[in-house]
Amino acid sequence: MAEKEKPKKPKGEVHVNREVCKGCGFCVEFCPSHVLALDTAFNRKGYHPPVAAKPEACNGCNLCGLYCPDFAIFGVRLGKAEEDSDEG
Ligand code: SF4
Ligand code: SF4
Repeated sequence: MAEKEKPKKPKGEVHVNREVCKGCGFCVEFCPSHVLALDTAFNRKGYHPPVAAKPEACNGCNLCGLYCPDFAIFGVRLGKAEEDSDEG
């Protein structure tokens, strides 16, 4: 039987608190999947917060959240419910 073709779903999702961000760019630098880019628009403090330029590439690893000094960003993993693992 052929494997079912699944549409590509993002494995994770990244959330940014734009107004808390200080635009340091650590999250952009350290994201292993190159999901993020700094926005051209400013937040109220005058910084460029990150945006998900390639949201489909996010795997929810939360490295961005670990590196952010201001707790302005975090990643979450999505959709683990469908994967069953039989353990005997
Ligand atoms: S690491 Fe945090 S403070 Fe720095 S640009 Fe990313 S979200 Fe903003
Ligand atoms: S959760 Fe991981 S893959 Fe997603 S934006 Fe953050 S560092 Fe990148």
